[in-house]
Amino acid sequence: MNLKKPINRKLKLVVLTGAGISAESGIPTFRGHNGLWEGYDIEAVATPNGWAKNYRLVLDFYNARRRKVAEVQANLAHKLLAELEEVCDVLIVTQNIDNLHEQAGSTQVLHLHGEITKACSSLTKGNVVDIGFDDINDGDKSTDGSQLRPFIVWFGEEVPMISNAAEIVAEADVLLIVGTSLEVYPAAGLVQYANSDIPVVVIDPNSPSGKISVSNAVEHLQYKATKGLPIFAEEIRKILC
Ligand code: NAD
Repeated sequence: MNLKKPINRKLKLVVLTGAGISAESGIPTFRGHNGLWEGYDIEAVATPNGWAKNYRLVLDFYNARRRKVAEVQANLAHKLLAELEEVCDVLIVTQNIDNLHEQAGSTQVLHLHGEITKACSSLTKGNVVDIGFDDINDGDKSTDGSQLRPFIVWFGEEVPMISNAAEIVAEADVLLIVGTSLEVYPAAGLVQYANSDIPVVVIDPNSPSGKISVSNAVEHLQYKATKGLPIFAEEIRKILC
């Protein structure tokens, strides 16, 4: 990796993560399963239409996802990213709705697609509340009287944090992309905001780097996250320490 240590400030490492980083913790990804997520049609459980048609099914789906997240542990890849805060400014932009980056100890995590441990008004998407790992039940109300819904950005909804995420990517000294198929927009377009002279590193056992059309030097560590992250972290520490 061709990377210079900045003078008088910490290096900014921006990390875009997707479902793949949590796969080895036991949370399945969903691409490559014929548009199904854990056996469910995405249209039925992760769109505003799905909610309008059968909100009880959507509640059940996310209650099951939440129970799963409660059972699992952050893996080595999440932990090494948290540990890199010892040597650089690590800013994580994740598409994941789980809390495994926080569980590992990362302190700067932006969730583009919401968080499974939160609920909000189904009327305004406001009045966000922490629910931890509790279920959201039919009849649980937000303070505005509407049914509580999972605090998740569904397909077809605006992504309110996208401009904050683009600003973060624009400030990166190095951009690391871990475990995302780069299929879901606008998240997949974030790489375009990186300065053209910074290195981009992709960790993924498949080839999402083929979808990156930037002039940056792109290095692909074609491994699972728990194998690729140790290689990347060692390289960063060698440059900075
Ligand atoms: P995706 O399922 O579309 O793609 C997963 C990517 O991870 C693929 O490129 C795959 O090759 C790679 N991968 C698989 N195993 C890996 C491993 N062990 N290490 C590294 N990479 C691995 O995921 P996406 O691009 O994040 O898009 C999915 C959408 O679904 C997101 O919007 C997200 O909110 C949601 N989702 C979230 C979770 C979660 O929170 N953990 C899980 C499933 C889906």
